[in-house]
Amino acid sequence: MERSDRLLLRNLTFPDGRSGQDVLVDQGRIQAIAPALPVPDGATLIEGDGQLLSPPFVDTHFHMDATLSYGLPRVNQSGTLLEGIALWGELKPHLTQEALVERALQYCDWAVAKGLLAIRTHVDVCDDRLLAVEALLHVRQRVAPYLDLQLVAFPQDGVLRSATALPNLKRALDMGVDVVGGIPHFERTMSDGAESVRLLCELAAERDLRVDMHCDESDDPLSRHIETLAFHTQRLGLHGRVTGSHLTSMHSMDNYYVSKLLPLIKEAQVHVVANPLINITLQGRHDTYPKRRGMTRVPELMAAGVNVAFGHDCVMDPWYSLGSADMLEVAQMGLHVAQMTSQAQMRACFDAVTVNAARVMGLDDYGLAVGQRADFVLLQARDPVEAIRLRANRLLVVRRGAVIARTPAATATLSLPDRPPTVDWTLRR
Ligand SMILES: [Zn+2]
Repeated sequence: MERSDRLLLRNLTFPDGRSGQDVLVDQGRIQAIAPALPVPDGATLIEGDGQLLSPPFVDTHFHMDATLSYGLPRVNQSGTLLEGIALWGELKPHLTQEALVERALQYCDWAVAKGLLAIRTHVDVCDDRLLAVEALLHVRQRVAPYLDLQLVAFPQDGVLRSATALPNLKRALDMGVDVVGGIPHFERTMSDGAESVRLLCELAAERDLRVDMHCDESDDPLSRHIETLAFHTQRLGLHGRVTGSHLTSMHSMDNYYVSKLLPLIKEAQVHVVANPLINITLQGRHDTYPKRRGMTRVPELMAAGVNVAFGHDCVMDPWYSLGSADMLEVAQMGLHVAQMTSQAQMRACFDAVTVNAARVMGLDDYGLAVGQRADFVLLQARDPVEAIRLRANRLLVVRRGAVIARTPAATATLSLPDRPPTVDWTLRR
């Protein structure tokens, strides 16, 4: 890490549109924000040149135990969720802790380079050895100086459907896993799914933990687990501490039913995480045409006052062969799939991978304000919409006041007939 006690970043634009701002950092915190701040003695001056300074990207839905395993032991031929789960089952017995740690650390390096400094990852607890849990607890500690990692105890094979999943999940929580996970739509019956939501929410309430469930990740218009999740959140007073991930069935639900459901989600303050890259590729696989997109109803949820974030979910694993820890790619896909094309909606998509996501994880001291931690990313863009359009370079990534990653500004040099021999073209206007 490049260490500096004091940093002064000059002439910045913020996601809320404020421009010409300077930011003074000292002791790892933001000490002042104002135009034309004096440069204190010994401070390192960084010229922002009017570029966008954003709080770091946050990914609230990831699978770090599976990442970068693409092709092991084979490639998902059908491209479906269920073949992915089967493939993961084939891979699990061959996992080693060393390989898990190595792949996870490599992914965290990618994340840091992309200004992604907080990740909530699910970790499968259906392997009785809990190898992945041990590996990711180790990784959480290793990366703590530069990345906040939150772990969800995720019973991939179903907490009721798999005989040892519940005791394993409790063991994982005892070992220090942060959040209670679940997968009600993968239980044997709808009623088992509802029962799994009840018992997992009660477990979280007993232990004072947050909940994040894979919920209704199907095209089934009658899947109702989000209703049950909102109900138990309300009943147990877990408001603001529960997340429904995916909710893809909402895409296919009856509109009248959704009009009843949205206020229930809002009332329970259940956060929603859509995973646009994965939802658009995994859902609608049984359709001919018209082919459903499968992502949950993002603009309608936002309009109802629900906090919605976008997650990456997968990078080069049994479910998805692409991805690069770039949350701007995730925001761009979310924008397209949800047809959120107004200026306000595009900005909302930027919020879905920054401030909204930080709220899902309950991150303290996040954001561009005096007194907050000096964690941010300087983007080669003038505003959030341009950042999404260009998937802007991360010129500088700062954590606790230290520069931890730099990427050179993107430029291209053109040599064209009947034009000056060299045109230096940059993405900066
Ligand atoms: Zn997932």
